[in-house]
Amino acid sequence: MAVIGLDDTDSRDRGMCTTYLAARIAARLRERGHRVDRSILLRLNPAIEFKTRGNAALAIRTDCDRKEAFGLAREAIDAAAETDDPNTNPGLVVAPDADVSPAIAEFSVRTLCDRLAIADAREACKAAGFAYRGWDNGRGLIGALAAVGSRRAFSEWTVERIAYREPKRWGTRRTVDPDSVFAAAERGYPATWDTVDRGEREVVCVPRTPCPVLFGVRGDDPDAVSEVAAAIDAEPVERAETFLTNQGTDAHLRDGSIRSVENGRNYRLSGTVASAPETRRGGHVFFALADDGSNSISNDGSGDDVSLDTADAGSRVHDDEANATAPRLDCVAFEPTKRFRDRVRALRVGDSLTVCGEVSGGTLKLEKFAARDLVRSERVTPTCPVCERSMESAGRDQGYRCRDCGTHREGKASRTLDRDLELGWYEVPPRARRHVAKPLVRGGFDAPTHPER
Ligand code: ATP
Repeated sequence: MAVIGLDDTDSRDRGMCTTYLAARIAARLRERGHRVDRSILLRLNPAIEFKTRGNAALAIRTDCDRKEAFGLAREAIDAAAETDDPNTNPGLVVAPDADVSPAIAEFSVRTLCDRLAIADAREACKAAGFAYRGWDNGRGLIGALAAVGSRRAFSEWTVERIAYREPKRWGTRRTVDPDSVFAAAERGYPATWDTVDRGEREVVCVPRTPCPVLFGVRGDDPDAVSEVAAAIDAEPVERAETFLTNQGTDAHLRDGSIRSVENGRNYRLSGTVASAPETRRGGHVFFALADDGSNSISNDGSGDDVSLDTADAGSRVHDDEANATAPRLDCVAFEPTKRFRDRVRALRVGDSLTVCGEVSGGTLKLEKFAARDLVRSERVTPTCPVCERSMESAGRDQGYRCRDCGTHREGKASRTLDRDLELGWYEVPPRARRHVAKPLVRGGFDAPTHPER
């Protein structure tokens, strides 16, 4: 038995794709009469800057012996990897079996959430006694080892059926009938997802890069993705492979707190909206989230904290800005997230949220959020019950007074807010989904969901 891990064989400009190389290696193993038990497509930390596109690494489990497997994979990488590109640094790891040590499984988990050094991968391969080889600086060893350890490291898996183009067509415009994709996606939903974006009427499963992929259908079940793939009218398919993947699982997210986030990592964080959403140049929508410890809000900017008034039918009432002293984190919904930005724009200061996404440059790039508690009313200057005119302040801590009739009122009035948002999870649409981000339609969330499709 052998598990072959490989990564970093492709180039942004020159094409190629490590999944294609893995499909070719799997085909060659079968030609030689070996069994291929599974091919894994593992998505690694999406915040890694070395990635060509989706930060993928591959693992193939076969009954072939390790020596032969290593030789065959090495030849395939030598022949196909785009090593003329200085950013392509292939790595190959061959392990005896998928039943790797806890230390290797831990390496896989860290490759999703942290950043690792090439030396870490070499050391771990040596310590485990795995055969390995790096080309150029060998950075691909990180992903290759992570793929080898992934079966033990993760419990949640999905599948993707990838169809590849004939080599003579690589780099040319793809011929795929969009109507057939929409029809197949409709029939396959919800067992298959992110095939199309109905809201933008966009085909999502067909890449735009010069790589060999024709389309990839993602879902929960191998039969479902195969049926959708078979129903797509397109140019001839050279080969197709079904991969076991961690796509759509949120395996990259870790629970954290706003005060302790680091750039280049992916989090699930809770907090209170601390500034009104603002649409900036380019159509990106920003707001600040304050640490959850700030469950109080300032009173008229005076700096005195007042607790949230929950007497109003148990709902949140908001006055002004959230506590300015609590640690804050900017959150952004980028322009390509399209209609998701309307959900973000519907947020108000004081709303209680859980947000998910990558922290980069001190800003969290939103993948999804859950509205946990919404501000339902706001404090406003009272209206005189006699004259129906706006009252004015009677002085510090002296309430309000009507200038015309002298009517007095102790404090501000409460006005009910019409909220265009419900409690629960909201997500970016399929067109803007990160590979590893879990679509709400997959279920298992801790609040009601509002899936996009
Ligand atoms: P494609 O999507 O087309 O397969 P890619 O986006 O997977 O390409 P690669 O060419 O594989 O990109 O480059 C990513 C590189 O980053 C690989 O060398 C991989 O080993 C390395 N890498 C992945 N995750 C980490 C991590 N957590 N820490 C450090 N390096 C990483």
